[in-house]
Amino acid sequence: LPHPSGHAPVHVVVGGGQAAAAAVTAMREAGFSGRIVLVGAEAHLPYERPPLSKEVLVTPQAAQVSIHPEGFYAEKGIECRFGDAAVHFDADERRLELASGETLAFDKLLLATGARARAYPLLDQLGSGVFTLRTLDDAEALRGHIWPGRRVLVVGGGVIGLEVAASAVIMGADVTVIERGARLMARGAPAPMVETLIALHRDKGVTFALGADLVEATRANTREITLSAADGRQFVGDLVVYGIGVELNVDLAISAGLRVEDGIVVDEYGRTSHPDIYAAGDVARQWTPARGTHLRFETWANAQNQGTGVGRAMVTGEPCAFEVPWYWTDQYGHNFQVAGAQEADEWLHRGEPGALKATVFGLKDDVVVGAFTVDNGREMRPARAMIATGHRITDRTLIANPKTDLRKVADGRL
Ligand code: FAD
Ligand code: NDP
Repeated sequence: LPHPSGHAPVHVVVGGGQAAAAAVTAMREAGFSGRIVLVGAEAHLPYERPPLSKEVLVTPQAAQVSIHPEGFYAEKGIECRFGDAAVHFDADERRLELASGETLAFDKLLLATGARARAYPLLDQLGSGVFTLRTLDDAEALRGHIWPGRRVLVVGGGVIGLEVAASAVIMGADVTVIERGARLMARGAPAPMVETLIALHRDKGVTFALGADLVEATRANTREITLSAADGRQFVGDLVVYGIGVELNVDLAISAGLRVEDGIVVDEYGRTSHPDIYAAGDVARQWTPARGTHLRFETWANAQNQGTGVGRAMVTGEPCAFEVPWYWTDQYGHNFQVAGAQEADEWLHRGEPGALKATVFGLKDDVVVGAFTVDNGREMRPARAMIATGHRITDRTLIANPKTDLRKVADGRL
């Protein structure tokens, strides 16, 4: 649409990750013919993060990380400023300043600034031999430090911790996972799936230390690292990789006076508390009419779908569609997928509990509220449909039988 001032409208997108790449693509697909400028602090083309803890470590020669090939952005008329960070913007003046000194005028601005690894000062003070994993540069730096026989201390038993543990084992390392809480993947995985994961890791030789609250980290002359827990347990290794969650990149939004409450608060169009400023991806907490609340997710699917939805909304004014939350994790070549709620009154298994090929439904009052699959991703689509419609289970035996075609259950044929 022509801008009221007569000039071609300008959309600026800050952040060079999954949500940003999806948004600029969607803007062009929705027919936006104005100027698009994509600003990313990292010097790389937008890339996928999921391979960083998997292929980029284990089979780097086969890892494909770029979201689009290099020529894509020029072909779509998307101007790129990679390796340059946005440092300040004025929402009312509609001007954005970059670290390089360039100033960009915009009509609409999208913040897709994502998150960074939460720092752990107790470990960082050790200097070398301590790694986090958020960026391609982080993954490449870590890769050269893992080889057969290396003692890797993984701190944090979340998804990063478990994926790095699996990759390090495949690379021949001896791995100990140290988790402060009583449970692994407490934030985002159903309890029966966690049991399957733990059994898998133990089978591969991983040692778990749960309830270990680290109070001291020291390095001996041998470069050996010792981590000490409050209860006296000690862990000795050659290197430490930690994944203790993220800090959201909300500084720009806060200094511009936008509403931020564990994420930049946006409406169903992705609009922040300022009508010309939008947000999407890990950093956004979006109003979700289907749930009657604001929700924020830290998953690839959310970054991709919300980036697409908000990019489109900035052009067409249509609201984002709600998708049942979904993510996957790959460990030791096994694929786990999780959708919907993580808590349930009852778990209904298709396949033996703990099996490495299964679909498991989480039920509340007989209604499907969540599901996970283990090496059975083809059942995830009907499972998500059953969550979306609030499918009520009347015949448990039918569902529990792995031979029952779930697609027929999901669309009402069974
Ligand atoms: P990000 O990917 O964080 O991108 C934000 C970008 O914005 C960054 O490049 C950052 O440098 C840039 N930026 C920040 N501030 C500025 C600024 N001021 N100026 C310019 N640029 C800025 N999810 C899954 O569902 N499945 C998986 O298997 C999976 N594996 C993962 C493995 C790893 C190692 C990691 C780290 C994440 C994984 N995830 C996975 C999560 C998923 O990758 C994220 O949810 C997704 O990347 C979020 O995308 P985003 O675009 O919102 O943010
Ligand atoms: P998570 O939040 O998943 O897990 C962090 C873990 O660290 C939790 O077990 C947490 O336990 C623990 N922890 C937090 N603070 C401390 C502390 N001070 N000391 C010791 N342990 C602590 O974050 P990750 O770092 O694993 O992942 C970072 C991001 O990357 C997330 O956004 C995640 O979604 C994404 N990611 C997604 C993947 C996927 O979906 N497959 C794969 C890899 C990353 P507690 O409960 O006690 O706080």
